[in-house]
Amino acid sequence: MTQEVHATVEGALVMIGFGSIGRGVLPLIERHIGFDRARMVVIEPSADYAPLLQEHGIRHLQVALTAENFAGVLCGLFPDGTGMIVNLSVDVDSIELMKLAQTMGVLYIDTVVEPWPGFYFGSPLPNAERTNYPLRERVRELGKAYAGGPTAVSCCGANPGMVSWLLKEALLRLAADTGVPADPQSREDWAGLMQRLGVKGIHIAERDTQVSARPKPPGVFVNTWSVDGLLSEGYQPAELGWGTHEKKLPPLGHAFDNGPGYAIWIDRPGADTRVRSWCPEVGPQYGLVITHNEALSIPDYYTVRDGGRAVYRPTCHYAYHPCNDAVLSLYEANGAGKLPEAQHILTAEEITGGGDDLGVLLYGHAKGAMWYGSRLSCAEARRLAPYQNATGMQVTSAVLAAMVWAAENPGEGFVEADEMDHARCLAVQRPYLGSVECHYTDWTPLQNRINRFAEDRDDQDPWQFVNFLAV
Ligand code: NAD
Repeated sequence: MTQEVHATVEGALVMIGFGSIGRGVLPLIERHIGFDRARMVVIEPSADYAPLLQEHGIRHLQVALTAENFAGVLCGLFPDGTGMIVNLSVDVDSIELMKLAQTMGVLYIDTVVEPWPGFYFGSPLPNAERTNYPLRERVRELGKAYAGGPTAVSCCGANPGMVSWLLKEALLRLAADTGVPADPQSREDWAGLMQRLGVKGIHIAERDTQVSARPKPPGVFVNTWSVDGLLSEGYQPAELGWGTHEKKLPPLGHAFDNGPGYAIWIDRPGADTRVRSWCPEVGPQYGLVITHNEALSIPDYYTVRDGGRAVYRPTCHYAYHPCNDAVLSLYEANGAGKLPEAQHILTAEEITGGGDDLGVLLYGHAKGAMWYGSRLSCAEARRLAPYQNATGMQVTSAVLAAMVWAAENPGEGFVEADEMDHARCLAVQRPYLGSVECHYTDWTPLQNRINRFAEDRDDQDPWQFVNFLAV
C-alpha cells in the first residue's frame, strides 16, 4: 500500500462530522495529506468517538453546528484565513458553509448538498421543491458569483463524486472498444463524445452485498453507511436526469418549471421507486431511484446544445441495491409508514462477507450496455485501512482525492466532480477501489419476466425509461 503524501493543506484542517465517513477518512488523511496536527479540529456533537480522536492526537470540538453558531465557531478556527473545511456531517447547511468558506478564503469539500434540519422531514414545501434540483441550482447560481474564488468542491464522495470520474474512463474505454476517435479536452468535447458513442442513458448501478452474522433485529434500521443520510434522500421524491431520447414522462413524473430543465421528478419517494438495472456477478437486479446530485450534474454536464436548444442529453439516475439488511429496513419503514426509532451502521468488524460493486452502467450504444466500476470486498477494505467497510472506503478515498485536487487547484471556485481532473483523482483513489472492472452485457430491461403481466412497455426502443421503471 502506497504511503505517498500527495498534497499539503496549509493552515487549519477542520472536519465537520465524525460519523462513518469522517472516521474512515482520518487514516487516509494521515497517510496521504501533509497537515499540521496541532491545527486539525474535528467538530462533532457526539462524545462516542472522542477517545479515538484523542488516540490520534486530534482536537475534538464537541458542538453541533447550527444556523446561529456556525459562523462564529468556524471563524474562530481560521484566524489567518488559510486552510480547508471537510464537511462530512448531516444537518449542517452546505450552502451556508460554502459561502462562509469563500468569505474566510478557505478551501471547502462536502459529499452532498445538505440543508439545515427541517427540509427532509415535516417540510411545508411542495414536493417539487423538496428535490435536489433547487438545491443544486442554488449552488450553481451562487458559484457564478465566486468564480476564481477558493476551491469549493460540492458533492464529492463515491456517488456523487467518484462515479463521475469512472464515467469519463468508461467513455474512453467504450470509444477505444468501438473504434471512435476520442481526445476530449473540454466539457463540450466530453458531451460530444458521449453523443457520438450513442449513449442513451447511465445508471449509477450499485450492489452492496455486505452481510453480518447477526440477523437484523426487527425495528432497527441497518445500513452500511449513514442511516440518517439514506432516510433523508430516500424520502425525497425520486429524481433523474432526463434524456433527449425519452418519448414520455413516467406516471406521476413532472418536469421542473424553472431553470435549465435537465431533470424530472416523480411524485413518489425514491426509497420506494424501483428500476430494472444490472450489476456484475448478480446480473439483472432491482435498484432504487434515490435522488442524488450526480443524477443532475451528469446530464447537465453532458448536454449538447445547438443555440439554446438541448439536442442531446443522457438519462441518468441512481439504481441502488443497498445491503440486504437495508433493503429489509426500507421494506419495514415503507410498510410502517414511519421513520425507524433505532438504527445501526454495520462496521467492518461485524461484516462477515460481501462487498460493494459501484459503477456506471452506460446503455443504448453500439455494444448494448457496459458496467464500469469499483468492486471492493469488505475483507479487502479491512486490509487497506482501519475503521471502514467497503462502502465507506469507496467514499473516503474519493474525499481524499477531492482534498488532494483542491489543495493542488486552490482557485477554482465552486466545482463538482464532473469538472475535476478525473485522471488525477482516480490515480489518488485507485489503490483503495479493489478491482476496477469493465463488463459488457446484452441485457436490456425488456428481458426476464416471471410470468407476463400487463405493463407499460416500449418494444420499439428497449432503452426508454418506461421499460426500466418497475415501481
Ligand atoms: P453518519 O450519520 O455516520 O455521521 C454524520 C455525523 O454528523 C454524525 O457523527 C453526527 O453526530 C454529525 N452531526 C450531526 N449533526 C451535526 C451538527 N449539527 N454539527 C456537526 N456534526 C453533526 O454519516 P456518514 O455515513 O459519516 O455520512 C456523512 C455525510 O456524508 C452524510 O451527509 C452522507 O449523506 C454523506 N455521504 C455521501 C456519500 C457520497 O458518496 N457522496 C456517501 C456516504 C455518505
